[in-house]
Amino acid sequence: MGKKRSANKVKRGEFLISREQCDGCGECVVQCKKTLESGEPCIQIVTVGERYVPIVCQNCQDAPCITACMPGCRYKDEKHNRVVTDYKRCVGCWMCVMLCPFGAITRVPKKEGEHFGVARKCDGCLDRTEAPCMTVCKARGLQITDPNAYSAEKRKKAARTYTTIIDGETE
Ligand code: SF4
Ligand code: SF4
Ligand code: SF4
Repeated sequence: MGKKRSANKVKRGEFLISREQCDGCGECVVQCKKTLESGEPCIQIVTVGERYVPIVCQNCQDAPCITACMPGCRYKDEKHNRVVTDYKRCVGCWMCVMLCPFGAITRVPKKEGEHFGVARKCDGCLDRTEAPCMTVCKARGLQITDPNAYSAEKRKKAARTYTTIIDGETE
């Protein structure tokens, strides 16, 4: 029996992903679907060999999806520093789908009475105090963290790897 893991308590901030830790449980996908009530989740778990990789909007700084969007419905929310969407203005041209480097945008077909489908992506659930997908991620495969803290963690890992290599060479 493994160590008991606590729920991932998070607040608003940067949306980063620790790809090593996702165990493929799919709880985030279920939670996202429930939250959006669109039937189409904004997060997908892709399997590569024996690993699981959560694919979700990476909130690019110079976001190609913003450049692509002629009606201007995709834009930067300056307060939260996040790429968000005004779905009422989306005309379903799918230009953003073509330009997103992560495949993070999903086509939601039009419903009865609507003229267009919409191109939905994770807008970060900014109307909530916690992102629902992250709250259920017990493996901490999805994490909101400060980018500097994330880099510091990576540096430590790289330093450990270098040390192991150097120790091996000097034996
Ligand atoms: S933050 Fe909200 S929209 Fe984004 S993946 Fe999580 S539940 Fe879905
Ligand atoms: S939808 Fe794609 S291009 Fe747009 S901010 Fe997210 S990851 Fe970047
Ligand atoms: S599909 Fe919608 S969000 Fe995407 S570029 Fe077209 S109008 Fe903008």
